[in-house]
Amino acid sequence: MSDQDLNPADVLNLPHALILLMGASGTGKTRASRMFPPHQVLRADDFRELCASDPGDQRVNRPAWEALGIVLGARLRLGLTTVVDATNSGAVNRQALISGGRSHGAPVVALLMGTAPSVAQTRNAARPANRQVPPDTVALQHEQIVAAHPNLEKEGFDHIVFAESLPVLGNALDRLARKERTAEPVADVRRVFGDAATELFDWDTPSRDEQFRTGTFGAGGDSLRVRWMDDADPFDIRFEALVSCPADWCPGPAWTPVHSVADLAAAHRNAPADESECTRCDA
Ligand SMILES: [Zn+2]
Repeated sequence: MSDQDLNPADVLNLPHALILLMGASGTGKTRASRMFPPHQVLRADDFRELCASDPGDQRVNRPAWEALGIVLGARLRLGLTTVVDATNSGAVNRQALISGGRSHGAPVVALLMGTAPSVAQTRNAARPANRQVPPDTVALQHEQIVAAHPNLEKEGFDHIVFAESLPVLGNALDRLARKERTAEPVADVRRVFGDAATELFDWDTPSRDEQFRTGTFGAGGDSLRVRWMDDADPFDIRFEALVSCPADWCPGPAWTPVHSVADLAAAHRNAPADESECTRCDA
């Protein structure tokens, strides 16, 4: 296999792979890793922090990498895609990771950061003291990776991908939006209609075969039903409210878009601000 076989964005969905980030300090590896679910990412800094309460404490490199190796081995045995967020500039360290992946039949991916060395140096210099790496070290890491690049396939990598060719930000935001939705089911209601109206809202119990998720604004004996396309684009929140068909001969219910509390009030008066679409006739 070679990198020609893989559309870069497919890296995000490989079911069983070992993905090694490669980049000097300050090249944005951790940012890039945000496109993967957090439990897939083994970060050298995190393991150092677990060992020393300080992610920058290089004295615990050995136990940190031992612990990372144990977790990585467990994940590879289960056939789970795993991302290693570390500089990975040293050939010896890299070789150990590659052979671990290959011995478990996982395709091994090099995910390279294309960040310019000057940008990496600036970012590194802006970090808190315990996270800074000496500028010479950043330069050395960069040189090592540039030198290794032409031979990565020979080292045993199945795919070589640049982070810049991936939808990093979009994927990270999609994932965060899904997480926010799970954490707060009424987040979308709150965003569109505000805190006060959200106090009046409950989702209906969802039924599996329904295309729309429905909910109700209710107070006293009064209520207004709304629906929302559940699998819609997380950045395109569209609610519709239930009103009567605009054709007076038709008893059918109709749905009208609602974007604000004012729209809700108008729909509740059955005088929708926007057009409404009947579910029974063509009105
Ligand atoms: Zn109708």
